[in-house]
Amino acid sequence: MKFEDLTIEKVHQGLLKKEFSALELTKFFLERIEKENPKIFAFLEVNRELAISQAKEIDEKIITGQKISPLAGIPCAIKDNILVKDFKCTAGSKILKKYIAPYDATVVKKLKEKGVIILGKTNLDEFAMGSSTEYSAFGPTKNPIDLKRTPGGSSGGSAAAVAANLCIFALGSDTGGSVRQPAAFCGIVGFKPTYGAVSRFGLIAFASSLDQIGPMTKTARDCEIVFEAIKGKDEMDSTSIEIYSGKSLTFKSLKEIKIGIPKEYFVKGIDPEVEKVVKNAIRKYEEMGVKIEEISLPHTEYALPCYYILAPAEASSNLARYDGMKYGIKEEIEGKDIFEIYSKIRGNNFGPEVKRRIMLGTFTLSAGYFEAYYLRAQKVRLLIKKDFEEAFKKVNFIFTPTTPTPPFLLGEKLKDPVLMYLSDIFTVPANLAELPAISIPCGKVGNLPVGLQIIGPLGSDFQVIELAKFYDT
Ligand code: GLN
Repeated sequence: MKFEDLTIEKVHQGLLKKEFSALELTKFFLERIEKENPKIFAFLEVNRELAISQAKEIDEKIITGQKISPLAGIPCAIKDNILVKDFKCTAGSKILKKYIAPYDATVVKKLKEKGVIILGKTNLDEFAMGSSTEYSAFGPTKNPIDLKRTPGGSSGGSAAAVAANLCIFALGSDTGGSVRQPAAFCGIVGFKPTYGAVSRFGLIAFASSLDQIGPMTKTARDCEIVFEAIKGKDEMDSTSIEIYSGKSLTFKSLKEIKIGIPKEYFVKGIDPEVEKVVKNAIRKYEEMGVKIEEISLPHTEYALPCYYILAPAEASSNLARYDGMKYGIKEEIEGKDIFEIYSKIRGNNFGPEVKRRIMLGTFTLSAGYFEAYYLRAQKVRLLIKKDFEEAFKKVNFIFTPTTPTPPFLLGEKLKDPVLMYLSDIFTVPANLAELPAISIPCGKVGNLPVGLQIIGPLGSDFQVIELAKFYDT
């Protein structure tokens, strides 16, 4: 049995048929991590003993004939801004380098109940702010397909771990594209659910009105299994909602489906090779029976500026709690008063991108500027939402490229933050409009993967995944 090609479904079958044990499987991945992680740096922390003991528990259940869930014994990785009890949770920041999670995030609790094996925590841009994982305080993750290139970000560690076969699936978080963009760059599937479909309890907040946790998997079918397991209303997150997977919601034939192609997404700036690959994928769907129609999302050009007002504003307020006193740094710092101590700790322990966002956010929220920036961006957000509402009166789903370019080189965009921000141009609209969106690998430019993004109406999460499944190989 080749463990490399395993999907969740295949592992489940293999475990039930006793072709291999959860322990063998877990050891295989731990060994791969030991060998590959020094090159790729996908994991920040791995807990060997815990993984082995979790695997033994699952084997015990199988031997004694107990019923196991499809996720039991599946080795996975969790982005290091999601709390896993007794693991460190650094959010890729020096300010949290000693913080140990005192409880499990709801998603982790749910996965543990199903018997998954948590191998470790994955690297990310500091506080999930970035598009290349180069803003991690602990060093960049590399793209396993080409080590000179970035895996995308901010969930670059999770994407690289799945793509390099260091685990079977991973969780990431997506505020403006951080699950979908790295999924596209690493040639895997990444899904951002409808806002609220997955509980944010235990996710270190970046921009609370945009943040969602999402699965990163090898296939859309695996994505469905993980989403089913982590979704649901949670009394610990008042913004969470229930998404139903009822049969009545699924479609019978692709002939019933109308797909919109927004003309604003195929403009100057998109790499012509990427455009070609994406258009080819769209053609394949057309051959499978869907109807294609050009649509317009007229406010698309304002999505990125709107996001880069709202996300830093929320971040500046969310990050106010990190003063070095709470959450475990407690540096011996001299200062004449508490303000000087706070500013020294924050000055020394936040990286440049986080500082940039805190300053931007503090500025746009301050008296005199609030109406001109923050409030106006909120209004633009509404217009972007309305664009989608109008579009979904005509079509069932929207297809776009996930990113304007293939994975870029490490260091290529580090000196120019705006260039870095531009890699989110196709992913932020779904966060602003709270919509479910998936990125699936749809082809290559040379050896570099390209992602197709499928966006659906609010709450259509299972149908979006269903449509993606037609592309599973
Ligand atoms: N790259 C985007 C940003 O820097 C999105 C990040 C995310 O989705 N967490 O804000």
